[in-house]
Amino acid sequence: MVVKKEIITKIKRNIPNHILQLLYTAGELADSLNVKIFMVGGSVRDLLLSQYISDLDLVVEGDGIQFAYALAKELKGILKRVHRRFGTAVVMTVDGLRVDVASARTEFYEHPGALPNVKFSSLKQDLFRRDFTINALAVKINRRDFGVLLDFFNGLEDIKNKKIRILHNSSFVDDPIRIFRAIRFEQRFGFTIEKQTEELLKLAVIDGFIKRLSSQRIIAELMHILEEPKPEECFNRLLKLNIFEQISPLLVWNEQFYDYFIKARESFKYLSSELNVPQISFKQLYLQIWLFKMDYQSIEKIGKMFGLSNKEIDRIGSLNSRLNYAIRKLTVSSYLPNSQIYAELSQFSFIEQIILFSIADKKEILLSRLKVYYDKFVHLKPNLNGNDLIGLGFKPGPLLGKCLVELKKNKLDDKLTSREEEIRFALEFLSQNKDGA
Ligand code: ATP
Repeated sequence: MVVKKEIITKIKRNIPNHILQLLYTAGELADSLNVKIFMVGGSVRDLLLSQYISDLDLVVEGDGIQFAYALAKELKGILKRVHRRFGTAVVMTVDGLRVDVASARTEFYEHPGALPNVKFSSLKQDLFRRDFTINALAVKINRRDFGVLLDFFNGLEDIKNKKIRILHNSSFVDDPIRIFRAIRFEQRFGFTIEKQTEELLKLAVIDGFIKRLSSQRIIAELMHILEEPKPEECFNRLLKLNIFEQISPLLVWNEQFYDYFIKARESFKYLSSELNVPQISFKQLYLQIWLFKMDYQSIEKIGKMFGLSNKEIDRIGSLNSRLNYAIRKLTVSSYLPNSQIYAELSQFSFIEQIILFSIADKKEILLSRLKVYYDKFVHLKPNLNGNDLIGLGFKPGPLLGKCLVELKKNKLDDKLTSREEEIRFALEFLSQNKDGA
């Protein structure tokens, strides 16, 4: 066991206060229950890399579930996903932090009869099952040894040298999903996959081990990739390693998609700096930009693989033609009535507008129209609302909705300037469309 005390200060400095408090609480609780407790895995790696920590992995040498119950109670959090068989549970804190708690294997023996090491060895065994050395570090959080780093496999050195290294030669064969994880961490942190690890990774690919994975696991992993800062780099890597062809012939990746991903990200950054726009799910943005130019059958098949609903698939299926039509209209330099700008832009979600902006040529004109749309048009409301229309004789239903849209369009074009004018317009609209009321 290698214990590095000099790391304590760094760890304490990098942990945000609310997490630090949680760790102190967990450590004291473990002391009172007389068990050893460690922070492990990705959270330790991220700490050492001074990255933001969004969730915590704790390993208890002892009964992890009993500990998780006590921790949930202490933190007034919620206990979720208790798996007795695996000795794992999740505690959700009141401020939304996810804490995974697991029991370290107690049946580990370094070699038969090596009883004195049994407790630490069980942590070691737990860590030895992990994917890469950078993910196999632990920090003790019991009060007395709080912040002591346990580094059995030289993970710290690999972090310093920016290396992704497996812990044993059969790692990719044991669990081929690690092939994707290696690429994901390599690209996320700008690390390189260590030479022998890469050779073994390539061998596992050539030997067809990816085919042994369930499609659910692969899709979940591709989804994780779509959440990475630069998913296109991960996909390029998968392409070069001939991994796409082992996943599904439907999943195509090429330079055009690579460029689209970058353009979409840049468009998002630009638009959100210029406009008052909502936050988005990048995963959804990338997925849509990956799919929207494909033929409908491919969109349907891939969309289903990725868990999209029929409605979402239909929207993506028609997106390309809708975008092309809207671009033609919205990029004319001549005058365009406000109602038309509104009608064209409001049919798209913000994610679709990002794609629109990414693929359009005349970006300046488009931006000016997006600006008025977000600054003025989305906030503008007719004087009359649904209840007012019901008061005027409308029945709740599509006609009422259409009338509200028409009111808004006319107001956008300054054709309706007062409540009285709107009432007159609505009554006329109702009498002209009586059959549909
Ligand atoms: P991320 O920041 O992407 O969430 P993470 O390392 O926290 O990265 P998780 O999937 O949450 O990833 O897994 C937590 C820990 O569990 C990892 O750090 C690693 O130690 C271990 N782990 C996860 N998946 C595997 C796997 N397939 N094989 C071995 N160990 C794994």
